[in-house]
Amino acid sequence: MENRAVEAARLVDRLVRLVRSGVSRQGINPAQWEALRFLARANRFSRTPAALADYLVSTRGTVSQTLIALESKGLVLRRQSSRDRRSVELELTSRGLEMLETDPLIELASDLGKSGSDDGLASTTEILRDALRRALQRNDSRPFGVCRSCRYFRKDASGRGKHHCGLIDEPLSEKESDLICSEQQPA
Ligand code: SF4
Repeated sequence: MENRAVEAARLVDRLVRLVRSGVSRQGINPAQWEALRFLARANRFSRTPAALADYLVSTRGTVSQTLIALESKGLVLRRQSSRDRRSVELELTSRGLEMLETDPLIELASDLGKSGSDDGLASTTEILRDALRRALQRNDSRPFGVCRSCRYFRKDASGRGKHHCGLIDEPLSEKESDLICSEQQPA
């Protein structure tokens, strides 16, 4: 069992390296791809340079360079936060969203889809999710989980999809409920 776990860890490591390495697709380097993916999945409270740095376990300076490059390519917009004038909000442009359709991660997902049954993939996903949870705990990192599974998520009992965040005291749409959040705490 232990050898199998070591082999699985080696495979994950090799796959990650292969996805991150090689030619930068469309002139986008691995760090820039990671930022684009985060901005596509994060809710409006989390699309900030600080949350991006936390998610990537990176420094503010490195993330700042990544964002400058993405802005100059017309893939990301930076603007003053509507909730806090001292803060900045980030947003993907329509070109940024289009760029994600060529994300190298899609090829890995396709390969995984071809490699096993739905049940096999579901159990692999659960194993990886559990390993991620343990790694986050060891690193004292935030989970960045999905809003709907947060202890502060207040579901709209009427079924109209008008949910609420009990922490930030803000409304949440149905779509936002499926996004990830820097403040998320598992229920
Ligand atoms: S309910 Fe939780 S995950 Fe959702 S916005 Fe509020 S703090 Fe973030």
